[in-house]
Amino acid sequence: MRQFIYRSQPAHVVFGEGTLSELGPAIETVGGRRALLLSTPGQAQQARVATAAVAAIVGHFDGATMHTPIEVTQRALAAAQDAKADCLVAFGGGSTIGLSKAIALRTDLAQVVIPTTYAGSEMTAILGQTENGRKTTLRSPKVLPELVIYDVALTLGLPVAMSGVSGINAIAHAVEGLYAQDANPILEMMALSGVKALAGALPRIAQQPSDVEARSEALYGAWLCGTVLGLAGMAIHHKLCHTLGGLFALPHAETHAIVLPHAVAYNSEAAPQAMQHLAAALGGGEPAQALYDLGRAVGAPAALRDIGMPGGGIDRAADQAVENPYWNPRQVERAGVRALIAQAWAGKPPATGLFTP
Ligand code: NAD
Repeated sequence: MRQFIYRSQPAHVVFGEGTLSELGPAIETVGGRRALLLSTPGQAQQARVATAAVAAIVGHFDGATMHTPIEVTQRALAAAQDAKADCLVAFGGGSTIGLSKAIALRTDLAQVVIPTTYAGSEMTAILGQTENGRKTTLRSPKVLPELVIYDVALTLGLPVAMSGVSGINAIAHAVEGLYAQDANPILEMMALSGVKALAGALPRIAQQPSDVEARSEALYGAWLCGTVLGLAGMAIHHKLCHTLGGLFALPHAETHAIVLPHAVAYNSEAAPQAMQHLAAALGGGEPAQALYDLGRAVGAPAALRDIGMPGGGIDRAADQAVENPYWNPRQVERAGVRALIAQAWAGKPPATGLFTP
């Protein structure tokens, strides 16, 4: 067996259906007595109603928004101070969890996180925030949530379109963990189980959004994939999504869902073992094509042009994506990256024929 290093992160996870009933004890577990509830405006009512019985919640800030703008963090910090909060309860997807992390970075308040999408931020010590229109990312143990409650019941209403793209966003974390420079057998187990669970569950959710068993598998898969994101390096796929999202303000999960098959095709020949394993987890065939087909099965958009990327931006994106590239199994070279972006912009199937089963 090859030599490897495995790091783990402290994690206290409660998983199941109806587990939100554990919120009161969870706040006590992290040492909190006065919690500030966080949500987006769209989930304000859901968050308030779901947590109404928890006496330790003493305030609610419902202004969380995508990409964690610093102005929103400052308003939330003031709300935490006004409420004399000694801990945070984040109820929502990656945007709300990002806000919680941004507050924790500045205050060290403990976080209880209740994820309602499959983005996986709750399992990472990574925070992306935006200041003066620029998004920067940092890693700090301060932002890693102390306790995570996964309640499948809260995901039943996640719209079908968001479920599909959010699930593929999670798969992307696992895929890059398989060929990461610091890949190891433990993360590989998590990545493959996560991909298998999500690839099996997402088409069932698209057919029947209230299928509790499929929702459970998807949320479990999202947990595993998020763990991989937190512990392995990211490669070309994440670099491209950060670049495209930053340049053209594209929606996060949709961008991941469109780019992933093309990033996998790009790396196909350079990471043969990862691709063999990925193919098996996706149910056989060429992984890039299988991921493209999964996108169609769950109703994800296929083309970057359909989510707001201008055609004239392909060259700019290629230039920026090859600047300071993340480590990647295949050399990051401009012609190949440009072709990848052009293919994803047009929504064409990924370049195939590069994978030998
Ligand atoms: P999101 O949190 O922006 O949610 C999208 C929309 O769906 C929001 O309006 C939200 O209120 C709504 N929503 C969420 N769950 C719902 C539910 N169950 N029912 C109904 N509506 C629901 O989207 P996201 O994809 O989860 O998160 C994206 C953000 O998270 C990005 O800013 C991204 O950079 C960040 N992210 C960070 C990490 C990390 O490790 N730091 C990892 C993944 C994503």
